[in-house]
Amino acid sequence: MTNLLARILLAIMLLPLAATIYLLVCFVMMGLLGWGRSGEAFGFLMATLLTGLFVTAYWLALWRNSVNWTGARIGKTTLAGLGCVSAGVVLGATMSALSRINDPSFGIFIGGLVAIVSWLPLTVVVWKETAQERTDRLRQAATDVLFCPRCGYNMTGLYEARCPECGARFTINQLYAAQQKHEIADAAAPREENA
Ligand SMILES: [Zn+2]
Repeated sequence: MTNLLARILLAIMLLPLAATIYLLVCFVMMGLLGWGRSGEAFGFLMATLLTGLFVTAYWLALWRNSVNWTGARIGKTTLAGLGCVSAGVVLGATMSALSRINDPSFGIFIGGLVAIVSWLPLTVVVWKETAQERTDRLRQAATDVLFCPRCGYNMTGLYEARCPECGARFTINQLYAAQQKHEIADAAAPREENA
């Protein structure tokens, strides 16, 4: 199993794990506090907070090393987190205010769900490398490296001209021609001196 595959599987497991934690905390809190209105609301609130912390920590641990942490990107990540929390609070408060039975539980549940779930796609957008970052990364990987023309996987040192990542097969000539194009494209791109 490649590292990337392992991380993708762990990413898929995040939501079921988060749902399990949410339910567990809800049941434990309501068991301790009773199933009255305030007990339920507090149970949902605790479950939302703990699940939010879990999801944030898990997601960061999973992708931290694959992200180029520039100052701007750290700022945007923080902003995305604050935005999600604000959106969740506003939504939850509005729903609680509108609810006729004067029970904040449902508002807390929906607001928390929206805040937690919306943070994940936002981080994908913020953490994705820019075209310039990709060019720099490929250039830094030196010119005698062989990339898959289809998916960009690093094929250096393989014994066959088949990409283990995307499965595409190439002749040696195709691979050679693709690398030449790659080098020409690299040479044509504006050069910047690395600090
Ligand atoms: Zn490939």
